[in-house]
Amino acid sequence: MNKAIFLDKDGTLIPDIPYNINPHVITLQPDSIEGLKLLQNEGYLLIIVSNQSGVAKGYFTEEKLQVVKIKIKELLAVNDILLSGFYYCPHHPQGTVKLFNIDCDCRKPMPGMLLKAATEHNIDLTQSWMIGDILNDVEAGSRAGCKTVLIDNDNETEWMPGEHRIPAIICKSINKAAESILITQLT
Ligand SMILES: [Mg+2]
Ligand SMILES: [Zn+2]
Repeated sequence: MNKAIFLDKDGTLIPDIPYNINPHVITLQPDSIEGLKLLQNEGYLLIIVSNQSGVAKGYFTEEKLQVVKIKIKELLAVNDILLSGFYYCPHHPQGTVKLFNIDCDCRKPMPGMLLKAATEHNIDLTQSWMIGDILNDVEAGSRAGCKTVLIDNDNETEWMPGEHRIPAIICKSINKAAESILITQLT
């Protein structure tokens, strides 16, 4: 079976520009490339799992998200990093687009995207990690059975507690997260 690093997109892998779908302003987060390479070299698949409620809210279509996916894949590929999957939740319970206006099981903190990816990529979730910048990411990872990292960059503001909302690692960047994950593997 494979193991994976599930990556939140906005605020974790790329700087958070709310509801942005313009590929020209997408960059990778600083202090992420070396860490992603380390994790890839350790055999982890790198997979994005992203809430994209802008689809349900009518701000952009799913087609536009494909452009975002291609841009991120390119930014990673120039650094010899392979993105193995790009999963997104287009739903929101208060959405205006009827098709996506549902209370789904894939919007984080629910684990649906991770579970789907695990099936499609033959991933052992217990050997996998979720990295995100808010506790809803941590909860989704924990509910899926993964270990979790919170990138503490001030994007979490509510700190709502819960049994699934306790990250194994708290750090400031993906590079730091990668170092800690590799150390955890050894112990
Ligand atoms: Mg985020
Ligand atoms: Zn969903």
